[in-house]
Amino acid sequence: MERWRAYLNGADPAARAGRALWQKLPSPPRCVLCAAPFRGPFAPLLRLIGKRPFTKNPRYCDFCMSRLIKAEGGAEIEMSALFADVRGSTTLAEQLGPTRMREIIDRFYTAGVDVLCQGGAMVDRFMGDQIVGYFVPLYASMHSRSAIETGLALLKATGSLPGKTPWIPIGVGVNTGEAFIGTVGRAGGLLELTAIGENINVAARLASIAEAGELVCSDAGHRARSPSCLGGTRRPIAAPDPRHGARAAR
Ligand SMILES: [Zn+2]
Repeated sequence: MERWRAYLNGADPAARAGRALWQKLPSPPRCVLCAAPFRGPFAPLLRLIGKRPFTKNPRYCDFCMSRLIKAEGGAEIEMSALFADVRGSTTLAEQLGPTRMREIIDRFYTAGVDVLCQGGAMVDRFMGDQIVGYFVPLYASMHSRSAIETGLALLKATGSLPGKTPWIPIGVGVNTGEAFIGTVGRAGGLLELTAIGENINVAARLASIAEAGELVCSDAGHRARSPSCLGGTRRPIAAPDPRHGARAAR
C-alpha cells in the first residue's frame, strides 16, 4: 500500500521523465499507462525494451503489464478523473446507421486516447461511448489542471468549437479528490489498472450532465486550475451530489 502510494504520488521521477518522452514520439496506438507508441519510427527500438503490446491485453505494453502483475494492489490518493461521453448517441446511431456509427466511435476512441495520453492521463476503459482517464501525480504533478486542460483539448479535437458543428458531440466531466487506484482482476491478461470511489462516480455524473461541447468540473477541480487556462464563459450549476460544480462552456 505504501509503495503504491509513493509510486502514484511521483516518487519515481524517471517514470515521469520516460513518459514525457514517450508521449511526444509518434504514433498511436499507445500503451494506456506509459504512452509508449506501438507504431511509428521508434516502435522497433521501444520493442527492445519491452514497450510492445502485451499479447492478452494489447492496450498495455509488456513492461507496464509485468510491473502491474508483480505489484498487484493499489492505494488511496488524491487524483483527478475525466469522463467523456458521446451526447445523444442513440439518436446519432439512428441517423448514421451502425457501420458509420462504428467508424465515428472508433475515430473518437483513437483521437480521445491520443489526447488523453498527451495530457498525461492513464486511460482506463472504453465503455460503450465513453472514455475515462485518470490523472495522478506520477504522470501529472498538477493533476487537476492537467485533467481540465485535457478535457478542453478533447472538446477541441472533436470539433467542439464556438460556431462549429463537432464531428462527434461529447460532454466532459472532471472531478478531483481521494480515490482508490490500483489493479483489479487477475494476472494473465485480465488485470487492469483502475480507480474506484465516490469521487470517480462524481466525475461520471458530471460528464452525464454536461451538454455537447461542455466541460463540467467540480469545485475542487475548479479551484485547482489556473483561471487563465480556461477560455469561454462559465456559470455555476447545481451538480449532482451535495457539492457544487462549475460549468465551462466550450
Ligand atoms: Zn507501458
